[in-house]
Amino acid sequence: MKVSILGTGYVGLVTGACLAEKGHDVACVDLDASKVDRINRGDSPIFERGLEDLLRRNAGQRLRATLDARAAVLSTDLTLIAVGTPFDGQRIDLTYVKESARTIGQALAGKAGYHAVVVKSTVVPGTTDRTVLPILEEASGKRAGQDFGVGMNPEFLTEGEAVGDFMDPDRIVIGGIDERTLDALAALYEPFPNAPRLRTNNATAEMIKYASNAMLATLISFSNELANLGSALGGIDVVEVMRGLHLSRYLSPIEGGKRVEPAIVSFLMPGCGFGGSCLPKDVSALVAHGRASGVPMDLLQSVLAVNSRQTAQIFRLLGKHFSELKGRRVSVLGLSFRPDTSDMRESPAIPIVRRLLEEGATVSAYDPAAMAEARQIFGESVAFSRSLEDALDGAEAVVLVTRWREFERVPELLLRGGRSPVFVDGRRMLDKGSLDRYEGIGL
Ligand code: NAD
Repeated sequence: MKVSILGTGYVGLVTGACLAEKGHDVACVDLDASKVDRINRGDSPIFERGLEDLLRRNAGQRLRATLDARAAVLSTDLTLIAVGTPFDGQRIDLTYVKESARTIGQALAGKAGYHAVVVKSTVVPGTTDRTVLPILEEASGKRAGQDFGVGMNPEFLTEGEAVGDFMDPDRIVIGGIDERTLDALAALYEPFPNAPRLRTNNATAEMIKYASNAMLATLISFSNELANLGSALGGIDVVEVMRGLHLSRYLSPIEGGKRVEPAIVSFLMPGCGFGGSCLPKDVSALVAHGRASGVPMDLLQSVLAVNSRQTAQIFRLLGKHFSELKGRRVSVLGLSFRPDTSDMRESPAIPIVRRLLEEGATVSAYDPAAMAEARQIFGESVAFSRSLEDALDGAEAVVLVTRWREFERVPELLLRGGRSPVFVDGRRMLDKGSLDRYEGIGL
């Protein structure tokens, strides 16, 4: 199938590379000329395991990147919209989605034959039918359902695991205004025969994506609220509380005498809060959409409030050892919002580093992948360590923010160096008995 994709960020580029690998002919469109050049050279503009291999194999073959959206639409049968949908503080910002729809519509005006237009970006329920479809009709002068199809296909990939998630999806949700659109989408996903499919309408497909992210965010804030109460009461380790919870057969069923531990339980653990380009903005957008629709989303509003307070727990723990942080050498381990990605959008590391600086600490930071991104955010205000060893050297306090595997070596490295800084585990990643001056959220 010939496919064009508008927006080659995390979602658009991974989608394009994976669809090309599966045999489709893909044109990736972006406004950013440097991204387009890099993709055409087989050089990935983002850090994502396995992506560069796919680009090297497919760029110039079944995958090409271009700035020319019109030509890309005209030469393909189906177009995916995968541009950003940020939260502007009040509501979801649909500027890029609307611009994309207009560009596609204008191209469709000059196209003979059927075309399917599919929204892959995360958009609040109703957007595809009530915002995208009318723009396409107006810009093309054609009729949806007759001359072109309009669909919605939410993306569930997780950054850091994106290629694996796309190539072996847990589900494929396809929405459409009619059977013809749904069939076009079904043909796109034909090379993924093992994934369960859900065919539905566009608004339901849009809602499934929000429901998924809102549930994960809720589990995290639920765990953190319990963690904070446990710490205040004393004598409770909320990691053990959560392990006790995980053992419920509702969460980890016993099948054939064996315990199955589903991945969902990893969201039921205390920590310094959720970040990233999706959970905070999607929950905020849904809350705003509910409010605008006359349905206050009190539970999800609280999920956000709990999360925004969570980094304060790091400072409560540091405060047990230091009356003030002025002049203290604090090393921050992990800057990306989750391991295996360089993405720092809405990372909890940002408010933590900023507050450390505000309180006068001398901050050094280390991340296995996100150093270039961090330099852009913090500039010269932070010293960037070249290695984990370097980061631990001379620190009076160490704060672990991201669960990178490399950080499992911290106890061994500190022991070897004969050093015992205060260690604040923002993810409850390390064994609490492995370090002398260990502090953890929910402990
Ligand atoms: P991103 O910011 O990484 O990429 C968006 C890209 O779109 C940029 O490269 C930008 O230059 C380009 N763009 C903007 N306007 C354009 C236009 N008119 N024509 C062509 N290109 C244009 O965004 P992302 O993280 O890939 O997210 C895209 C969408 O997918 C969002 O709605 C997001 O919520 C959703 N999503 C993201 C993830 C994730 O993990 N990142 C997962 C699932 C869903």
